[in-house]
Amino acid sequence: MKLTSNNIFSSKIYSPRIWDPERNFVIQWHITPKCSGSCKFCYMFDSPGYKKEVEEELNKEQCLSIVDKISNYLEDKNLKGNFLLTGGDPILKDGFWDILEMLQIKKMKTIILGNAKLLNEENVSKMSLLGVDHYQMSIDGNEEIHNYFRGEGSYAETISKVGLLRKYNITSSFSYTISSLNCGEAPALILRAPMDKIFAIRYSRLVPIGRGEKYSKDLVSPEQYREALIKMYSNLSKIFLENNYPISFLSCDPLRTIPLLEMPQFMPNYFRSIVFTKKGCRKNLMTILPHGEVYVCRRLNIPIGNILEESMEELRSHSLVRKLEDPLSFKECLDCKYFKYCGGGCPSVTYAVKGDPFRKDPQCWVKS
Ligand code: SF4
Ligand code: SF4
Repeated sequence: MKLTSNNIFSSKIYSPRIWDPERNFVIQWHITPKCSGSCKFCYMFDSPGYKKEVEEELNKEQCLSIVDKISNYLEDKNLKGNFLLTGGDPILKDGFWDILEMLQIKKMKTIILGNAKLLNEENVSKMSLLGVDHYQMSIDGNEEIHNYFRGEGSYAETISKVGLLRKYNITSSFSYTISSLNCGEAPALILRAPMDKIFAIRYSRLVPIGRGEKYSKDLVSPEQYREALIKMYSNLSKIFLENNYPISFLSCDPLRTIPLLEMPQFMPNYFRSIVFTKKGCRKNLMTILPHGEVYVCRRLNIPIGNILEESMEELRSHSLVRKLEDPLSFKECLDCKYFKYCGGGCPSVTYAVKGDPFRKDPQCWVKS
């Protein structure tokens, strides 16, 4: 079969694993603003709401009631719950272990997006017993670049914790925030994956909000971004063919699919190792901040309510949620031939740069 941009995702041979947003609901929950790190482009520090997050952080009982509320809603809707616990550093939350236990009782899938610093035999084994499935840590380039962003010693510390997590059957992934300062290093990180035995590489683009606002001038250009993606795909192919290492390549970023659509013959062998997130923030995604404020995506800086004050139905029917779910909202992209796969790019980058999440993505290179 000749692959084209119309049949690439329906091809039996190259069919990728696709995250099904119709059956899954993702809750990214920043359970605490407490953190032992101080990363240079953190969205939390220096954001307008940071002071409130610290002063009004929810207590353990309120957090347990949130698990109850969301799990009841998901059961009613017949949706599978995926909780991504993060912070700050989630381990620093008072009541962290009770929250994990409650999630386990409610049969929610639990993933932690955290910090390597505080992981040790005792807490990793406890997380494993309480059903933590996966632990994501940040790596933002080679040792020098990463330590520049995240602090001296952070790179070696992060790499060293992968084995500890594996010992207790928790898979790990490295998450990479791409800017013009480090996009050349992202492909090299993929080549390290078999050696570090990591399960997945996840990446996202730098969004200039919070402390990241200072890095507005360091956003990748559309051409730089396309080139980095092509090199990443090339290295994914290399490690699959040479090491038979089918790493998962995770991202909610709709633009990452475009190089594969532009060149459908492009490195098909590892296609099944890629997990495509078809709708990202367009379906069944919710973010909760430490003081209960709700957003669609952490990076899309528009609050839609409060988890303790509004029902799940009210939050899910907020006008922003509806507008994101409606493809017709992305008017500048409707004529693009890739629209059915991309849906208009990343609203958070677009909002941070253009002040309107429904304009065309400023880092898209496609002429529409
Ligand atoms: S023009 Fe719009 S729909 Fe097309 S690839 Fe770019 S952002 Fe996506
Ligand atoms: S707004 Fe952007 S970063 Fe957030 S979920 Fe959507 S695509 Fe991903």
